[in-house]
Amino acid sequence: MSETPENPDRLVPEPTADTKPFWAAMEEDRLVLQRCLSCKKIRNYPRPVCDACHSMEYDWIEASCKGTLHSWTITHHPFHSGLTYQLPFALLTVDLEEGVRLQAKAQGIENSELKVGMPVKVGFEHLHPGLTLPVIEKP
Ligand SMILES: [Zn+2]
Repeated sequence: MSETPENPDRLVPEPTADTKPFWAAMEEDRLVLQRCLSCKKIRNYPRPVCDACHSMEYDWIEASCKGTLHSWTITHHPFHSGLTYQLPFALLTVDLEEGVRLQAKAQGIENSELKVGMPVKVGFEHLHPGLTLPVIEKP
């Protein structure tokens, strides 16, 4: 995690060698997921080793960006000073059509509208050149 130049108090992820394809796709408003080349298990978050068969061989598949809301938390108190600018915020856990979960902030969904099982889609928040974050929106 690091801070953004526009908002030095905001924490953002730092792409690594293992996650660069994920972040590059985000820049193009695409969500990609890793797929093990040995057992074909799809996984998220990006990581070098398959948790099912321990293979280190994988490719990337284009995700549909469609899913359903599994759960959420609404944060009113920051656990880090880098999150105070956006309080309160809803962090959603989504079951993607591809069978994996993704966590991201809600965008354009009122907290009172959140319901387990509601259809949602992955959207894209362009923070600055080189960094786009996934967000969860209404379909
Ligand atoms: Zn595998």
